[in-house]
Amino acid sequence: MASTAVGQHAIHPGIHPGIHPGRIEVITGPMFSGKSEELIRRLKRAQIAKRRVACFKPDLDVRYHRTAIASHSAQTLEALTVTNMEELKAVLMPMIDAVEVVGIDEAQFFDPSLVGFSNEMVHLGKRVIIAGLDTTFTGEPFAPMPDLLAIADEVVKLSAVCMQCGAPAVHTQRLGSSQSLVLVGAAGVYEARCRACFRPWTDEHGAEQMELPVGASEQR
Ligand code: ADP
Ligand code: MG
Ligand code: ZN
Repeated sequence: MASTAVGQHAIHPGIHPGIHPGRIEVITGPMFSGKSEELIRRLKRAQIAKRRVACFKPDLDVRYHRTAIASHSAQTLEALTVTNMEELKAVLMPMIDAVEVVGIDEAQFFDPSLVGFSNEMVHLGKRVIIAGLDTTFTGEPFAPMPDLLAIADEVVKLSAVCMQCGAPAVHTQRLGSSQSLVLVGAAGVYEARCRACFRPWTDEHGAEQMELPVGASEQR
């Protein structure tokens, strides 16, 4: 089959001439499922392969470090803390030619322009590795993760261990009464739960239904 440069551009309209497309990898699951661990593992391997890595996280997550991403198992990797996508782009774009791999942790806290940004990066030939929560503590999809999952080359969906029964956990259970979606990593505020043990709702007084014994409603 004849393969002209013009023809190739027609097939891959978003790819810049002479640049190999990159790759979007999304690591997702509930809290404690090992997303940050997996992100750190992939970025460290990229560094071993002498790839130039830039890693970002939102400044909401001040759990352990301001200059690193961190896992609950205390693994860390140097990262730049940014307040939003605008700042991320402002920091990254001046050095973009020197960066081959872009890592982003806690991606659920960035706005939906992360999706277009990821496409832009892949068209520039970058490998983009994104970790973020798939659902909120009410069990709803956590934007912009659904769109990132849709456009990814690879999706890694991890489970945690249910803190009630030990089964594989797909949910993040909020333990306090705060309704904030942006409370991050505070010990004792969230735990991983399986579908059977997950209690997404709270009653009108803010006391959680999950504190009722199982089957309490039938016993009344
Ligand atoms: P995430 O980024 O998904 O919140 P991390 O990578 O920060 O997860 O942490 C994963 C680590 O957390 C595990 O390797 C384990 O050491 C620890 N951990 C604590 N609680 C749990 C749990 N309920 N299920 C699985 N791992 C847990
Ligand atoms: Mg994490
Ligand atoms: Zn359970």
